[in-house]
Amino acid sequence: MLEGTIVKGIGGFYYVKTLDGIYECRARGVFREKNITPLVGDKVIIREKTTDKTGYVEEILERKTQLHRPPVSNVTQAVIVMSIKNPNPNLWLLDRFLLLAEKENLYITIVFNKIDLEEDLKTNIFIDTYAKAGYRVITTSCKKSIGVEELKSILKDNITVFAGPSGVGKSSLINKIQPGLELKTGEISDKTKRGKHTTRHVELMELDIGGYILDTPGFSSLNIDFIQNVEDVQYYFKEIKKYSHMCRFNSCLHINEPECEVKRQVEEENIGKTRYENYLSFVDEIKSIRRY
Ligand code: GDP
Ligand code: ZN
Repeated sequence: MLEGTIVKGIGGFYYVKTLDGIYECRARGVFREKNITPLVGDKVIIREKTTDKTGYVEEILERKTQLHRPPVSNVTQAVIVMSIKNPNPNLWLLDRFLLLAEKENLYITIVFNKIDLEEDLKTNIFIDTYAKAGYRVITTSCKKSIGVEELKSILKDNITVFAGPSGVGKSSLINKIQPGLELKTGEISDKTKRGKHTTRHVELMELDIGGYILDTPGFSSLNIDFIQNVEDVQYYFKEIKKYSHMCRFNSCLHINEPECEVKRQVEEENIGKTRYENYLSFVDEIKSIRRY
């Protein structure tokens, strides 16, 4: 028996990374009877056959977390990447990612990349907005090798969702952290001789320093219709939640209500204006779904 982590699942096969390399495993029938499916990210015990590096998943160890889209377990954190310029941060998308990561209770880091393109970081409104909101914000430049070590230390020993729109420098960052990382995952899929493009699947990329990065560019759905009530939207905005109990009305949605502390904090610039605007737009969205 060996312990390992499922790094990829495809067509009923689970690729389990152990101290003795990767084993191609099937799940024991008992899982099907119990209606349990092993997930990428699962820590498992396998019964191995060393001669051909195959085996059976015998046991799934307790899951710390479970994401549904993409389906993967034991993700502990989200790193959300935007570039400070070229392209400018897409704040709607950033707040959407943050909401989803908050929902999953992930530890969140926001990375602003391409800081070599920005002269004055101290007064940068984007960095300021999210630092004030209470997020860990780190600034990086692939071009000038700034912040890469800090990012590396954040990734170490975690399973990380690495999200962000294309063009912000995610591949460049990953390549700085570990040259050839993406190439390695390519090798695994060649070994299986099943086309990488034929089935959509999740795969974990292993870091030499310990830990894994998910190979999908973040959350595969930006849907927020899991939010049941408009009142609940604020719970996914750290800094709005922080002030909301000081509003005059318990039921305050921070829209037009009198003596609203959240609106006051927006005016005082303790809550970013764009954060507040996106909050309002998400409230509208949930309103229209629930047809209030
Ligand atoms: P991805 O789509 O998020 O994976 O982004 P890429 O890694 O492909 O990078 C997109 C473009 O941004 C490429 O032309 C990179 O050379 C450039 N780029 C990446 N990081 C930086 C950076 O720190 N500074 C500057 N100036 N350009 C960068
Ligand atoms: Zn209020």
